[in-house]
Amino acid sequence: MKLRGPFVAMAGLWAACAVAAAGPEDLVLRLRAHVEFLAGDALRGRASASGDERIAAEYAAAMLRAHGLEGAAENGGYVERVDLVRQPFASAPYVEAGGRRFEHGAALAFYRLSGVPVEGPLVRLRPGAAAEEVAGKVVLAQLEPGAGRAALGVLFDLMEGGARAVLVADAPAVASFRTALAGRAPEAATELASAPVRARGLVLLGPEASAVFASLPEGTPVRLDARLGATVHETTWNALAHLPGTGSDGEAVLLSSHLDHLGVKADEAGGDTIFNGADDDASGVAAVLEMARLLAAGGPTRRTLLVALFGSEEKGGHGSRAFRERPPVRLTRIAANLQFEMLGRPDPLVPPRHLWLSGFERSTLGPWLAGRGARLVADPRPAENFFRRSDNYALATRGVVAHTVSSFGLHADYHRPSDEPRLLDYAHMADAVASLVGPVRALLDATERPSWVEGGQPGQ
Ligand SMILES: [Zn+2]
Repeated sequence: MKLRGPFVAMAGLWAACAVAAAGPEDLVLRLRAHVEFLAGDALRGRASASGDERIAAEYAAAMLRAHGLEGAAENGGYVERVDLVRQPFASAPYVEAGGRRFEHGAALAFYRLSGVPVEGPLVRLRPGAAAEEVAGKVVLAQLEPGAGRAALGVLFDLMEGGARAVLVADAPAVASFRTALAGRAPEAATELASAPVRARGLVLLGPEASAVFASLPEGTPVRLDARLGATVHETTWNALAHLPGTGSDGEAVLLSSHLDHLGVKADEAGGDTIFNGADDDASGVAAVLEMARLLAAGGPTRRTLLVALFGSEEKGGHGSRAFRERPPVRLTRIAANLQFEMLGRPDPLVPPRHLWLSGFERSTLGPWLAGRGARLVADPRPAENFFRRSDNYALATRGVVAHTVSSFGLHADYHRPSDEPRLLDYAHMADAVASLVGPVRALLDATERPSWVEGGQPGQ
């Protein structure tokens, strides 16, 4: 760890003064005001790719303009429209191989299917298999004994990374998940309208289908298919803004969070049908808006301060994937990304008024910020795989040092209508967020760049 330079120390001091001058109560009030608007019943849970999500984007845009940031969307605008497409299934999707056909339902359950038909030769997943070995193949995967449902994340990445499809053999860890999936009509995956749809699928096999696939020789052609209905068009919204840096290398630091939540579910038992999403992720949007305000008040920095509030995170990370395909700053120029997710309630596993950083040990970013006073510690639940569970991941797979800042302690209101603004601890949020302002300002002014540690960058 390098020593603090005098300028870094001054920047930190300045930020501390700015917070102190306005009083911590001021930040508490402002955070609360954002959350109560975004997660109030009037915005009806900000459903992904909805008009309510767009209002959230416009609100964020108005705040960012008021704080002196410039629009970073097309033509200097603050709100970016992202077109999405989805092709619903007109018949139950199925998997076919070796003269047998299994439909979605009791025999197996589709978790993902896009760009049908999906075809490829069967291959068994060997531990530690390289990405090239499974590219273009239909992979039969057996979960390790004792693996939890989180192990599915690795298989999902395998599919996103190049395997045609992944068939997950029956295992206790995923049996109840498969039954739940099998009980609903499979949903066609939503895709960016601007990117060609790549054929791929992920399927959880029941006991009989598992036995059949286990007996098939490697190389057997496998086909996943369904009849498709008419294409459905949807629109999601990102809010993008920046404060241009004074440096000549065009580098930026990206602060981000997601605008959307789960909307309204009319069939929700218990009376409350609005999924307010106060912690998830109005808290993150509020944190980013306030950090942007405090950072902008200090004037320009060497690196550009880039802010992105993404749409449709809950529905597959479409806003951040659109950003990744068409970034306002080249991805190689983004020195670091901090995604803010669910920091409205303290996590009992970390010290009071602290946040944790997903994948802390994967890069030098967390230690660098913590070494300058950020109340930031390692994620206490690595088995939950939070590192891959937010918008940072889309950028991390392309090399950007990108992590999620959070204090989610697995509270019971997660993805429930009870994730309400009144349950947030705004004093915790204010203290934790204030501690980040100086260190992030130091990062904006630094010349050194955070980097992945050996093996820390997720494969693509
Ligand atoms: Zn979230």
